Amino acid sequence: MGAGLQGRAVRIWREARVRSELVAAGALLARRGLIRHAEGNLSCRLDPRHVLITPRGVAKGLLTAPDLVLCEVGQAPPAEASSEAWLHLEVYRRIPLVAALVHAHPPALLALEHGGGQVPDPRDLQEGELLVGSVAFVPAYPPGSRELAQACAVALTESPVAVLSRHGVVAWGHDLGEALARVEAVELLAAVGLAGREAGR
Ligand SMILES: [Zn+2]
Repeated sequence: MGAGLQGRAVRIWREARVRSELVAAGALLARRGLIRHAEGNLSCRLDPRHVLITPRGVAKGLLTAPDLVLCEVGQAPPAEASSEAWLHLEVYRRIPLVAALVHAHPPALLALEHGGGQVPDPRDLQEGELLVGSVAFVPAYPPGSRELAQACAVALTESPVAVLSRHGVVAWGHDLGEALARVEAVELLAAVGLAGREAGR
């Protein structure tokens, strides 16, 4: 097999693998109750310029591999891409080491933030410190807006996780597994934070 043909085969194989990983990740988030129906969005970088992202308006627990939408970093996303595609693409553009991004609406995290603007504290759990390190806070901007995309990308240059006011969480990873693990870790930290707040009353 020639070098060009071999490179193309590797790209096709990699894209197929990433598509099936995103489908499995959507199902996991739905099963864990971290997203409901069409909420949330996920993406993975295929190469420095290309990203696969979940489609808008589709339940992430019921995705199939062909549903995922190919986007180009630095370009407007296709209409069928997630409503938060601008956010994802802006993070990939600004932070070259980001390989995957997950946006979810975890219930304990929303409850913690709702009851006093608190964000999960990674120091509450050893694993939280190791996996998350720090959590940024992004004030309320309209969902899907370029302003939200900019604010999120800036916040995620400092922390791997950002809580979006009255909305949810965004986490990136060096791979999809790490981004998912961070979303699950902040939800557990939020549950611990809520329990601590209850006990303190
Ligand atoms: Zn959302």
